[in-house]
Amino acid sequence: AKDAGRNSFALFDQKLRASTRHRVDLEQALRGALARGELSLHYQPIVDLQRGGLTGFEALLRWEHPVHGRVSPVDFIPIAEDTGLIVPIGDWILHEAAAQLQQWRQARPADAPELHVSVNVAVRQLRGDRLLDTVRRVLADTGLPASALWLEITESGAMEDLDSALATMRVLHGLGITICIDDFGTGYSSLSYLRMLPAEIVKIDRSFVQGMDEEDGDEAIVRTVVAMAHALGRRVVAEGVETEAQRDRLRALDCDLAQGYLFGAPRPPSADTAWLTLPTPA
Ligand code: C2E
Ligand code: CA
Ligand code: CA
Ligand code: CA
Repeated sequence: AKDAGRNSFALFDQKLRASTRHRVDLEQALRGALARGELSLHYQPIVDLQRGGLTGFEALLRWEHPVHGRVSPVDFIPIAEDTGLIVPIGDWILHEAAAQLQQWRQARPADAPELHVSVNVAVRQLRGDRLLDTVRRVLADTGLPASALWLEITESGAMEDLDSALATMRVLHGLGITICIDDFGTGYSSLSYLRMLPAEIVKIDRSFVQGMDEEDGDEAIVRTVVAMAHALGRRVVAEGVETEAQRDRLRALDCDLAQGYLFGAPRPPSADTAWLTLPTPA
């Protein structure tokens, strides 16, 4: 079940990883992917575990290769990061996600709870002022309030380039953007680092969530992360929730928010409006 979301990519991925020539081909194809309209965003619901209801979405990048079909972000995001293509692509993602959320917000009744969109940001995008310029421009162009924009930075990415990550995060936080530390628990940093990071949200990696079923310490890790995050005034999102047992356990451990196939897989914005029917918080 752990790799359920990857099954559709598995065959191509094996071939792909087998050869560096394929990587060169992919890199070449990725250079023109944005201009050719092959990139799109899917949106996965994030729910409030304690009160119930939808709180927002995570935007996830998709690439439809003209010959190979769907390529997993696990395979092409690293290429986009290494080549620097993630910088222009990342600008596009921010604009696209903010514009989509603003459209949804405007379609909802005035008394409906606020929705947020959470956008993944690569460590490479944190260097210099470009991300800050893009974020300011995107908010101005789309009219989306800063409070509705969350940015996800992986724990390992933040640690890799801590000084520039911290500087950029502080400015973003000052703009009213919510910073999330993604894949928490997978890096080498300790919980004490969390004190320094201007991040309001911690996202527990799905490996811990999905490992909770066995008696080997994953549940203790989840419990500890939730307790420490709360002690520091942060909220916790559990990733990769696939079963009701996981959901119930996380709720009992006082985890705040969750996402996973149990609540909804990532989907294109126009496929249907199932997200509208998720019950809203009481
Ligand atoms: P991530 O940020 O940790 O995103 C969560 C991944 O878990 C997504 O994979 C999502 O489809 C998958 N997922 C969601 N619920 C479940 C579940 O219940 N079970 C399982 N097994 N998986 C679930 P995806 O879309 O393949 O993305 C993989 C990674 O690629 C992301 O991990 C992120 O690191 C990167 N990525 C995706 N989109 C972007 C983007 O727009 N920008 C950047 N910089 N990275 C991105
Ligand atoms: Ca993420
Ligand atoms: Ca994650
Ligand atoms: Ca385990």
